[in-house]
Amino acid sequence: MFDSTEAPIGKDRNFPQIDWTQVTWQQELKHNISTVEQISQYLVLSEKEKANLNKIIEMHPMNIPRYYLSLIDRNDPEDPIRKLCIPEDDELIVAGAMGQTTKDPYGDDKHDKGNGVLHKYSYTALVVATEYCAMYCRHCFRKRMVGLPNEQTVKNFQGAAEYIANHPEISNVVISGGDPFLLPTDVLRKMLDSLKNIDHLKFVRIGSRAPVVFPMRFFEDELIDILAEFNECKSLFVPTHFNHPKEMTATATKAIQRLRNAGITLNNQAVFLRGINDDVDTLVALMHGLLEMGVSPYYLYQCMPVERVRHHFQVPLKEGVDIVDTARQQMDGYAKRFKFIIGHDIGKLEICGQYDNKLILKQLHSRPGHEEETSRILLRELTEKGGWLDDLPEVASF
Ligand code: SF4
Repeated sequence: MFDSTEAPIGKDRNFPQIDWTQVTWQQELKHNISTVEQISQYLVLSEKEKANLNKIIEMHPMNIPRYYLSLIDRNDPEDPIRKLCIPEDDELIVAGAMGQTTKDPYGDDKHDKGNGVLHKYSYTALVVATEYCAMYCRHCFRKRMVGLPNEQTVKNFQGAAEYIANHPEISNVVISGGDPFLLPTDVLRKMLDSLKNIDHLKFVRIGSRAPVVFPMRFFEDELIDILAEFNECKSLFVPTHFNHPKEMTATATKAIQRLRNAGITLNNQAVFLRGINDDVDTLVALMHGLLEMGVSPYYLYQCMPVERVRHHFQVPLKEGVDIVDTARQQMDGYAKRFKFIIGHDIGKLEICGQYDNKLILKQLHSRPGHEEETSRILLRELTEKGGWLDDLPEVASF
């Protein structure tokens, strides 16, 4: 296991010594850090940094659990944990060096059926259960809505369940957000209950970064009991979101263990991020660390062209494919099962590799009405800085 720095932060700045397995999650959430004044109690910031931070969090709120903050190495200005949770000045740049950006890179709005239901693939419905998260990750592709008032969150989950019941082509549901595990346990129970009797629904996923940033949520027995009970009825999966080995602490491992003991299958969806995991050693440690925890490496997403994210977090594909391929050479079979993915407006594309300066992609999922695109191969000319499908000149598709 990667040597984590789970020791509480800053004795000199009065960060309390806490056994995170003993805290009550609702109480602990109230201690989250969301203002410049609060973060200044733990980290030394210049006046300029404070002014910029204030500007950024007016647009995209900051919200950091004390647990996650305690993982920061304050002696390392490039610390990945810090970059993932504390806005940097680069977040003031809407587009920038990597090219154009958008608020909605994955085409969520086009597939919005109202009441929080996104129906992007015929067989999968996604329900945006909440706009709240235990932490607002600086690289989030739903940055346009997390922690902000919006019209895309479910108003009435029963209505969403009726939509699913009325569409027999839907075999699975993703309960997403925001982070669904931030909802009260009785609300989650009602949501799951409303899905239990839909015959054509075969399995359910609850997408969450809480095991990583707020593992104390899973020390509540009632939650684990509800999940285990639902899993008896329909298979339940929890896609996790570990991006860096430093996130795999003893506390996070205990949370994962509790979910595994409930019979839940855990698959990880990481994002490939500049300054976080864009080097061979970190990727190898991440994928091997996941297996050690009992989580399957599933996806590694290319960072999307999101406003205020792309400029500083996206890695050019030409460089990225080399890093990922070199890392795979050092991974065992289970570790290298993950797919390197572009989650594009047209559907999901696997980045298979490169040959003769051409990027080789395979389309895994296509949007309704474009089913013939599924499984096609795409070849694109690699450029030095191209970080997204649209940046690379078309060569062929077949
Ligand atoms: S927890 Fe997920 S949805 Fe919430 S901010 Fe982080 S990446 Fe975005």
